[in-house]
Amino acid sequence: MGFQLTPADYVEYLNRAYQKIHENGDYVTELDSATGDGDHWSNINLGFEKLVEAAEELKTLSLFEEFKKIGTIMMSVIGGSSGVLYGSAYLGAAKVLKDKTVIENEDLCAVLGAMLEAIMSRGNAQPGFKTMIDCLHPAVECYRDSIANGLSERETIGKVRQAAIDGAQSTAAMEAIRGRAFYQANKGVGHLDPGAITMSYQIETLMDYLAEKL
Ligand code: ADP
Ligand code: MG
Repeated sequence: MGFQLTPADYVEYLNRAYQKIHENGDYVTELDSATGDGDHWSNINLGFEKLVEAAEELKTLSLFEEFKKIGTIMMSVIGGSSGVLYGSAYLGAAKVLKDKTVIENEDLCAVLGAMLEAIMSRGNAQPGFKTMIDCLHPAVECYRDSIANGLSERETIGKVRQAAIDGAQSTAAMEAIRGRAFYQANKGVGHLDPGAITMSYQIETLMDYLAEKL
């Protein structure tokens, strides 16, 4: 049998993601200072801090209600573009989880796909625009391909993790079409997109946690 995530497991993942984001503050702020307004880390860090504070309540909810609550918290607490985008992502993903009691492999692929779709439509952006999408999109594509090709869950997790990391790194070479880097003289070329890096922290943390659950 493969992994199964309960609402309480998802809270444990949020705790770990918060730690990963928290400990990389200087690095992410440096990235966002180069091409943006320097607040991306403090925005997202505050969002995860509030999620961790809400842990006890989140654990008691159904997955559907839990994801809606996470989206609402993110939308209200995280400033900047990323608050609206992550809020929409979680609200979109909640719909996929209606009537589910655990998240299994195919559910998680659908959850990440729904997040991607919500972020792309809310921010009116596509892959290649030098945003968080350039981490999430290759991760989702890889997840879908891995399932279609019948890969084991352990192989899938490893590949999705790497696709997210590679996707985030690929933003360095991109010219920005969305986000504040668009307003830089060289469109941010040569700099990593901070939102893609924090997205990869979340996907890496999630995949590492899943690997423990197999
Ligand atoms: P702001 O740009 O409003 O200051 P943040 O600093 O919180 O917002 O987040 C910046 C990150 O948000 C960028 O690095 C990028 O990854 C992401 N981003 C910005 N605009 C968009 C968009 N339209 N679609 C997807 N992601 C976006
Ligand atoms: Mg900013």
